Amino acid sequence: MERQSNLADLVSNAVNGAQVVDLHTHLFAPQLTGMNLAGIDELLTYHYLIAEVLRFESVTPEWLLSQPKSVQADLVWQSLFVDRTPLSEAASGVITVLSAFGLDPQSKNLREARAFFSARDPVSHLDEVLRIAGVDHVTMTNDPLDPLERKSWDEKPEIDSRFLSALRIDPILNDWPSSFKSLRSNGYDVSVDLDDQDVAEVRRFLDDWIGKMRPRYLAVSLPDSFSYPEDSQRNCLIRSAVMPTCREHALPFAMMIGVRRQVNRRLAGAGDGVGLADLTAIERLADDHPDNRFLVTTLARENLHGLCVVARKFANVLPFGCWWFMNNPSLVEDTTLMRLEMLGRSFVPQHSDARILEQLIYKWSHARRSIARALTTRYEALEDSGRVITKDDVKRDVTALMSGVASEWLGLTC
Ligand SMILES: [Zn+2]
Repeated sequence: MERQSNLADLVSNAVNGAQVVDLHTHLFAPQLTGMNLAGIDELLTYHYLIAEVLRFESVTPEWLLSQPKSVQADLVWQSLFVDRTPLSEAASGVITVLSAFGLDPQSKNLREARAFFSARDPVSHLDEVLRIAGVDHVTMTNDPLDPLERKSWDEKPEIDSRFLSALRIDPILNDWPSSFKSLRSNGYDVSVDLDDQDVAEVRRFLDDWIGKMRPRYLAVSLPDSFSYPEDSQRNCLIRSAVMPTCREHALPFAMMIGVRRQVNRRLAGAGDGVGLADLTAIERLADDHPDNRFLVTTLARENLHGLCVVARKFANVLPFGCWWFMNNPSLVEDTTLMRLEMLGRSFVPQHSDARILEQLIYKWSHARRSIARALTTRYEALEDSGRVITKDDVKRDVTALMSGVASEWLGLTC
C-alpha cells in the first residue's frame, strides 16, 4: 500500500512539475495581431459549449449564433453552470480556469469574471497563463491563404520565441478546385488541372511560406474517407509536392484524420462530426516514403489502437495527442496507457488544441492528471514484475512524454 501511494505521488509531482511543449494549438503569437482569442466570453462561446447548451435550451442554433457573444455567453453560463452542474469536460474546464485566477466558480453571473479579464494587461496575462499551464512552447496553426494572417506575416514580424509555427495546408489538399484560385491571386501560375507545372508552382508556394514562417511541420486535417494510394488531386499533391518539400526542408507532415465536416450545418462551427478512418493509408504512405516523418492523430477512438500498430511497424510515424472529441480525461488515460503498453514512451500523449488562450490552463492540468495515472499504472505493473522504479526513471520518462519527444520532432534544441 505504502509503495503504491508513494509511486503515485512521485509520478504526479513529476508530471505536474514538467514543462510542456504543446505540439498543436490554434493560438497565435502576440505579433500576429488581431487573431488572438481570450477571456470569459470567448471561453463560454467555444463551439464545444455551444453544442452542449443547445441540448438543454429550447432556442434554435440560428437564433443563438446570431446573438452577440455576451448574450450567448450569459445563456451558456446560466444553463450549464448555474441551472445545472457543469459535468462535461468542456464545462469543467471553464471552472478550472476560473479557479486558477481566484474567481468564483459558483457565481450567479459573469460580472466579476468579465471585469477581471477586461482589466488584464495582455502581455503579462499571456505570461501568467503560460506559467500556470506550465507550457514552454506553443505550436500555432498558420494558414497562408487566410488574408489576415498573410498580411501579418508579410510584415515580417519578430515572433515571440515561445510560439512555433506550423504551415497548415487544408484548402490546398482538400479543395484544389477552389484553392487554386487563391494561389493564382497570390501570384502563382496554377490551374484547376493540376498538371506538372501546377505542382511545381505549389512547391514554390510551399517553399516561399516555409521561408516566411519557418514552420516546424506541414499539417492537414483530413476526412474519415482519406485514402492512399488513390487517383485524386489530394494524392497527387501529397506525393509530388508535400513529400518532396518536407524531405527537402527536413519537416514532418502532420495528419489529423477522421473529421466529418458539417454533419449538422445548422450548428456552423460546432457542427462537425467523427468518422472511422482507414489506416492502411498511413501504412502505405509511410512505406512509400521512408525518408519522410509523419505526425498522426485520429479523431475516432476506434482508430487509436490501429494507429499504435501502424507506429510499431513504421518508426517514421509518431502518434500524438488525444484530439478534440478524444480530449476527455477517461479517454486520455486509457489512450496513454495503451500507447505506453504498445510504444513505450515513443509518442506524444497530448496537445492542447487550445483556441482560446486560457484553455491552456485546463487542458494541461486535466491532461496531466490522466497522464500521471496511466504512467503510474505502468510503473506498478513493472514493480510487480520485479523492476524497481527510481526517481530518475520517472524524471526521464516524464520529460520525454511532456516535452522531449515533441521537441525532437519539432527540431527544438531546448
Ligand atoms: Zn486543431
